[in-house]
Amino acid sequence: MNTGAAGSLLASLDWVSRDLRPILARALDGHEVSVEDGIALARAEGRDFHALTLVADEMRRRQAGEVVTYVVNRNVNFTNVCIKHCTFCAFSRDHREEEGYFLPVAEVVRRAREASELGATEVCIQAGLPPKLDGRYYIDLTRAITAAVPALHIHAFSPEEVLYGSIRSGLPIREYLAELKAAGLGTLPGTSAEILDQAIRDVIARGRITVEQWVDVITTAHALGIRTTSTIMYGHVETPAHWIHHMALLRAIQKDTGGFTEFVPLSLIHSEAPMWAKGLVPGVRPGATGIEVVKMHALARLMLGPTFRNIQSSWVKEGPKLAQLLLSAGANDLGGTLINESISTSAGAQYGQLVGPAELHRLIRDAGRVPAQRDTLYGLLHTYNDGEDPESPLDKIEDAEARFGSYRRLIASGEFRFTRG
Ligand code: SF4
Repeated sequence: MNTGAAGSLLASLDWVSRDLRPILARALDGHEVSVEDGIALARAEGRDFHALTLVADEMRRRQAGEVVTYVVNRNVNFTNVCIKHCTFCAFSRDHREEEGYFLPVAEVVRRAREASELGATEVCIQAGLPPKLDGRYYIDLTRAITAAVPALHIHAFSPEEVLYGSIRSGLPIREYLAELKAAGLGTLPGTSAEILDQAIRDVIARGRITVEQWVDVITTAHALGIRTTSTIMYGHVETPAHWIHHMALLRAIQKDTGGFTEFVPLSLIHSEAPMWAKGLVPGVRPGATGIEVVKMHALARLMLGPTFRNIQSSWVKEGPKLAQLLLSAGANDLGGTLINESISTSAGAQYGQLVGPAELHRLIRDAGRVPAQRDTLYGLLHTYNDGEDPESPLDKIEDAEARFGSYRRLIASGEFRFTRG
């Protein structure tokens, strides 16, 4: 039986097709959405698609309320030199290429300190896998940042990088993660997930961290008290059934560990990605369509909302306008200010590398919601209930590229050129 808001919402959805109506009713009643039902919802079209987003918005309201969060953070992608050849990646350079760069530890620390002075609470560090990297590099880098800027939360190193550090150092994953934590690591980004389906991974990124290894790094981190985010990359050769199986796997981990802080759908930026630009992967799509993007966030809310709570929309991938719209389709977080962004930019994303707090507030308020600055673990630092606006030095910066540098400048300049040691 449907009661209250759930019942009245469902009653007003009497135009929904017969197959989907009971599935949406069960979701509104708080039952877990099964894989089978998730796949059926993923096929929703036309008015059913609208019903899906309405139900996702209702579940967002119940699970996360009216507050929309963001984090003031800075990305540092300290090298683009990488031994792997993931076909979706336009960021990486082979070590022989002229455009390879490698930021020294002192420069990474300088960027972290500068971010902290501008109000950032988090530095997010991810990079390529340079050949012959000292296996303890990630640990030493973490320790250096912690020593210089102890208050800054270090959100760093994808499972692929953790695995690389472990292999290069000879330390087991568990010990490696424990050392990272002891050095001051706060959380891990749950990137390098793409689609957690080995057959898809073998097509788009042969040689990349396997599903089993990814799950091992993530669950080991959770067991050590290191929380992680979670992601999906879509809009290439996968099908909606892969989305749902991917979410079901994340949900099973979350039920076991409770270690995920959020789920972040990341649609493929295709234009410069080798899989598209060089035709490396037959049948690849040119990224997700707008409907797919909205559907992904709505499905995430229904599949993951009860256990994750936080579904993020990414302005870097989708642009601020679509990211704002996703707040009405299941999302409750707008991610970070970023300050520097290289990975999406190199793949052809058009949305710049800094969106300051004032603009995030404008998007959130215009969506009829309440902005709040959060920390990495979703602790609320300031909820702007009364319509006031943040006072952030980031909003006074007129030319972010001139002030903070950019990927384009980094690869063009010789200042931090990678040299084979
Ligand atoms: S996605 Fe990461 S591991 Fe793959 S090529 Fe790019 S930088 Fe390297």
